[in-house]
Amino acid sequence: MSAPEPDVLLARVAKVHDRIAAAGGDPEQVALLAVTKGFGPEVALAAAAAGLVDLGENYAQELVAKAPVLADAGADVRWHAIGRLQRNKVKALAPIVALWQTVDRADLGREIAKRAPGAAVLVQVNVSDEPQKGGCAPGDAPDLVAALRDDGLEVRGLMTVGRTGPADEARAGFRMLRSLADDLDLPVRSMGMSGDLEAAVAEGSTMVRVGSALFGPRPSVPGPAARQG
Ligand SMILES: *Cc1c(COP(=O)(O)O)cnc(C)c1O
Repeated sequence: MSAPEPDVLLARVAKVHDRIAAAGGDPEQVALLAVTKGFGPEVALAAAAAGLVDLGENYAQELVAKAPVLADAGADVRWHAIGRLQRNKVKALAPIVALWQTVDRADLGREIAKRAPGAAVLVQVNVSDEPQKGGCAPGDAPDLVAALRDDGLEVRGLMTVGRTGPADEARAGFRMLRSLADDLDLPVRSMGMSGDLEAAVAEGSTMVRVGSALFGPRPSVPGPAARQG
């Protein structure tokens, strides 16, 4: 699988910025997290070359394989863990991950605090009540934030995955995440992907996580085993 040509990738980045602006956001203020899951390291390298410094990965195995390739190439990127996390994967990821975006339970937070003391985290909230999605219930977020802080973690904000289906239907959930983050005085709101970033930006996203709109369709869809990681 080959990476998009540099000019193609830059044009796609510009297009995402245009979409953010059209939705009422400031492309300078809304961080663009480039989601490289499912692609080889050459795509992550292309992203870094295009100036995308925040890269997101879902699967521990992929992240552990790609991170050294970028480090060896001198690419200075920040890796974000955005997939469902198992506690037994935390140790391997601890030296790599800059922001743990999917912390949704206290025992996971405790493990991160043990392996990466003081690490920066986001609390993932399930705003759509869809059982297949990760995230704590909105009502549980305040206690979880407090527990993570007790463990010495730096809680920067909240993250959510919008309701599956028409982007408009994700909007109420994004609004809920926004108000929850405001209540908790948390500045980071990671929400919006290729298909629903306008709705997320309109509701106050500070970070959109974009894969296919930058890199095209993912070549490999990991199976259930890989999905755990
Ligand atoms: C895959 C993924 C994305 C990016 O999805 P696209 O639709 O390709 O933009 C964003 N966030 C999470 C949590 C993901 O798993």
